[in-house]
Amino acid sequence: MSNFLESVNRNFDRAAKLSGLPEGLLNQIKTCNSVYRMSFPVKINGDIEIIEAYRVQHSQHRNPTKGGIRFSQKVDQEEVMALATLMTYKCAIVDVPFGGAKGGVAISPREYTPEQLEAITRRYTVELIRKNFIGPGIDVPAPDYGTGAREMSWIMDTFSQMKVGEINAMGCVTGKPVTQGGIRGREEATGRGVYYATREMCSKEEDMKALGLTPGIKGKRIAVQGLGNVGSFAASICQEEGGAKIICIAEYEGCIVNEDGIDVKALVEYKKQNKTILGFPGTTTTPSRKDVLTLDCDILIPAALESQIRIDNADQVKAKIIVEAANGPITADAEEILIKKGVLIIPDMYANAGGVTVSYFEWLKNLSHVRFGRLQKRNEQAALMRLVNLVESTTGQPISEAQKNFLTKGADEIDLVRSGLEETMISSFNQIYDIWKSDDNVTDMRTAAFLNALKKVSSDYLAMGIFP
Ligand code: NAD
Repeated sequence: MSNFLESVNRNFDRAAKLSGLPEGLLNQIKTCNSVYRMSFPVKINGDIEIIEAYRVQHSQHRNPTKGGIRFSQKVDQEEVMALATLMTYKCAIVDVPFGGAKGGVAISPREYTPEQLEAITRRYTVELIRKNFIGPGIDVPAPDYGTGAREMSWIMDTFSQMKVGEINAMGCVTGKPVTQGGIRGREEATGRGVYYATREMCSKEEDMKALGLTPGIKGKRIAVQGLGNVGSFAASICQEEGGAKIICIAEYEGCIVNEDGIDVKALVEYKKQNKTILGFPGTTTTPSRKDVLTLDCDILIPAALESQIRIDNADQVKAKIIVEAANGPITADAEEILIKKGVLIIPDMYANAGGVTVSYFEWLKNLSHVRFGRLQKRNEQAALMRLVNLVESTTGQPISEAQKNFLTKGADEIDLVRSGLEETMISSFNQIYDIWKSDDNVTDMRTAAFLNALKKVSSDYLAMGIFP
């Protein structure tokens, strides 16, 4: 069994022992229900290339199932099973009504042109349609490592072309461009969720004191592994909204450091132009890209891939808090070492759940065929204006046009999405935190998160019954 799947299941078992649930039910929750492995041919530069791909639906206790699609050379069946498994718990933790799923295509996207990637993505979608593994009420993919809005748009178009007349076709995939039925705020959602999770944890005075840290995210020294979708938004939002200092960023080609803080937005632009983060003004380069994991910092945010902190480097980790923006960045063996060292881990299934939360909003938008805020924005503005005018006339104090505009601004789609995401991340944090702090047997936040998920998934099974 791969290290990743084994780690997910070992963590599950640790929590399962404390759950008090019957063994048969726990086994059903743990099992991956459907695994679809496919091979298909695609013409690349005139030659036929056979592509290996997967879609795994871990649990259909709620439908549709939901989970990203990963393009990476390292994709294999067990990796996709591990990721699909995490999705079930993740969806339960943030109370979105989906079962868990995940897809993977075993290619390195850097080695293909956009046209070739389009051909691969469209053919993969056709394979999913043929086996009924995609649809707004069946299974709804989203972006993951190596994919983004562009690929989601190709998937949606392929599905729509093959399902003529399907009124909800747009809801077959989330993470689409806004012009193609996407939602404002989806691109930043996972990184923004990571920020809310970090901020909530840092606000707990007692826990921060135990780590030798002051409360609050402001001024915290953060190191980030991976400047892709999740890492770049997590870093820039922690910096801009939280006032944290991003002292180190690692990418595939190396690791850069600036103790005074790295301007993340400027670095993202620099990377676009130079195709590397190395040489960014004001930074020094360390000998290895792995140095980010063992650097002296307050918070480490791994936002690249799984199994980065392992038994061979866990002992050297100096961060006091690790926020798992990536899925499975810490192996189960490494976690035991980190917990003994007193490192506080905010687990992936909660920390990076912002993406699926906003994907849920996008899916709702697609099914309702209307943009959030379209119906109520002006009505809300008019009601606020009446209130402001009343305050002005009763107090006799003039209120300027600029102040009026500010006070009466109705909510746009982006405001509603961010508000819904923040509310979700705060309330899920509180649920997990309460479980963690109210039971002495629950020694870490991951076990608390698992227990929270197990309670919700098991109650679905118990209420529905299982088909005889
Ligand atoms: P991405 O492809 O946009 O970015 C990943 C970045 O990590 C790339 O820039 C890559 O070059 C870099 N990288 C790879 N290996 C590295 C290494 N060893 N050291 C330093 N950098 C390295 O992918 P993403 O969407 O940001 O996903 C990252 C992680 O977050 C994955 O584990 C994914 O499953 C998880 N995740 C993503 C989402 C989402 O909405 N995209 C949601 C939940 C979880």
